Amino acid sequence: MPSEDIAHALISAVDEGFEEQLALTEALVNIPSIRGKEAPAQDLVEGEMLRLGLDTDRFRLDASELAKLRGFSPVVDADYSDAWTVVGRHLPGIAEGRSLILNGHVDVVPAGPETMWTWPPFAAKREGDWMYGRGAGDMKSGVAANLAVISAFRRAGLEPAAEVIVQSVIEEECTGNGMLSCISRGYQADAVVITEPMSERLQRAQVGVLWFRIDVAGLPTHVSRAAEGANAIDAAYEIIEALRSVEREWNALKDYYPPYERIDHPINMNVGKIEGGDWASSVPAWCRFEVRIALFPGQSLKSAKARIEAALDQACNSHAFLASNKPKITWHGFEAEGYVLPNDTEAESVLACAHRSVTGAALEDVVTRATTDARFYGLYVDTPVLVYGALAERIHGFDERVNIPSLRRMTKTLALFVANWCGVHKIA
Ligand code: ZN
Repeated sequence: MPSEDIAHALISAVDEGFEEQLALTEALVNIPSIRGKEAPAQDLVEGEMLRLGLDTDRFRLDASELAKLRGFSPVVDADYSDAWTVVGRHLPGIAEGRSLILNGHVDVVPAGPETMWTWPPFAAKREGDWMYGRGAGDMKSGVAANLAVISAFRRAGLEPAAEVIVQSVIEEECTGNGMLSCISRGYQADAVVITEPMSERLQRAQVGVLWFRIDVAGLPTHVSRAAEGANAIDAAYEIIEALRSVEREWNALKDYYPPYERIDHPINMNVGKIEGGDWASSVPAWCRFEVRIALFPGQSLKSAKARIEAALDQACNSHAFLASNKPKITWHGFEAEGYVLPNDTEAESVLACAHRSVTGAALEDVVTRATTDARFYGLYVDTPVLVYGALAERIHGFDERVNIPSLRRMTKTLALFVANWCGVHKIA
């Protein structure tokens, strides 16, 4: 670990800058950066990077370039004309330590009905130990923490002795193409930290994720002659039931995919969106629904997609109307492989040491049923990716919130991690 003096100076600097860090987090939460509307949040991050004296690089996502890379997910419902990645680089006077990427995403998922929130989702609110708002946990507090660590070094009259690349990405919640754009742009380092809200634990493993949409056709008739028609909404329910059998089948295989053997129901399938029909008294002529399903690390995307398509075929073959009117399946987002962080990396030991000196406790790990951008550098650039961040609750739900004392602790842990991983120079 860094000398006592340096550790103490960094911890004090995090405390001194903490109000400013919370204010930046709030300003980010107040920007409703759902898909396609992330640019104002990236403007704010870029401004903060410039203020901290980082070398900034802002570039647009180019789907046709990204499509050539492993890890790309198809872009079906979005256009990237205003889709930006922002990177800020700290370049030390003399580079001698290990380089590092600090990453976070500013995109958030939709808030749902605002009347179900205690306070408006895009107006950050502090109450006791918590800050509320969409993205407060997942993960604008993490983006602000990455910047706060750079700020703490500056405030303490120190600098990391190696390159630190701060990345602010979008598209984490639907494709991961923002993170992929950082690889496409050539950014590399000796380790990556993503400050997703992990309750101050280290993510050991994450699942893969597939998104698909199914368009079911029907035959409309007056409801009085329903037997002569074909109900697309009823048919959609039958297809969903058939897909549930894939979810059951994969969960039954968990013993073959460590560390998922210790997780209850690791594979979750979700019908997240459904629409269809035009009129209560007409047999519906169409139904469209969107599904997210997980897969295990090591399970191939290709075989997983083939299994889903086979289940769809099977459901349709025994159906009077669908047998000759096959629904259309569209892979319209995540095509994400799972990732397991190897358990013998030097980066993990350094984080465990920083975590212990701030919290007094051993670093625990966590195996999640979700995906993060960790897979990109982990799988395709062979770089260890530590996913570690504050305690947050109700992410993707109503009254999402981040725990403020936890955020303060994890920022200190991150500052000590950077100091030990990169080394420290005093600025004259
Ligand atoms: Zn996230």
